[in-house]
Amino acid sequence: MPSSPSRTARIRFVLVGTQHPGNIGAAARAMKTMGLSRLVLVAPEKPLDEVAYRRSAGAEDVLGDAPVFAALAEAVADCRLVLGCTARSRRVQLEELLPEVAGQRAVARAAEPAEVAFVFGRERTGLSNDELQLCHAAVHIPSNPEFSSLNLAAAVQVLAYEVRMAGLEGVAPAPAGPGHGEAAASHAQVEGLFGQLGDTLEQIDFHKGRAPESAMRKLRRLFMKAELSEQEVRLLRGILSDAQRMARLATDGKN
Ligand code: SAH
Repeated sequence: MPSSPSRTARIRFVLVGTQHPGNIGAAARAMKTMGLSRLVLVAPEKPLDEVAYRRSAGAEDVLGDAPVFAALAEAVADCRLVLGCTARSRRVQLEELLPEVAGQRAVARAAEPAEVAFVFGRERTGLSNDELQLCHAAVHIPSNPEFSSLNLAAAVQVLAYEVRMAGLEGVAPAPAGPGHGEAAASHAQVEGLFGQLGDTLEQIDFHKGRAPESAMRKLRRLFMKAELSEQEVRLLRGILSDAQRMARLATDGKN
């Protein structure tokens, strides 16, 4: 069955901190077999070498075209949906999706059109909590709980397959996204909201001596799950600006 390239062209696969160049080559091959070509690298431990090209087995184009970024936030700044693949189930306070659901959601969002990223972690340690915090949801391949970690390129293969299945012509894209026809907020816009939310909570003395991290983690989770539109981000930031103004007035009044 033909797969429409336009359905998956806005979907990128991001490999973070990969330790073995051979795995990057094997991941490029896995992607190409499923009609995907947008491989992105974040701070690989070693540069691409002969092993990487050999393991790509004919997907040198995918490998050679892969841009390299210093940090995950830069690699996904323009994305409206970021899905973090994790070998350990329920490790993070994020909505957890099955690969099939993740593939459908990715294809539906890409059709809006919007940029979408699947993110894969390091062979030894996976993705850090900070990196997972940049994701809207986690994707876990429901593997053997006692032996849950797939080889990086094998995990890429599973997700690439699901993206291909969801993108096949004749398969209606599942509805997803913010709805109401509004454009989804970009990653950078949502991070801007979190920055202002963090400042506002300090200014209104929300934490009262408690460490701010726990509340911020829960709030991030809440807003990531909501997949905010640009208009919703503007509305929330407007409310925060007013709260910040009132907090300033209250402080000035006391002095
Ligand atoms: N020891 C690491 C495993 C890393 S495997 C850990 O415990 O986190 C390298 C990457 O492959 C992971 O970061 C993840 O992106 C992907 N991966 C491996 N197994 C997976 C699974 N069962 N579900 C989803 N992604 C998986």
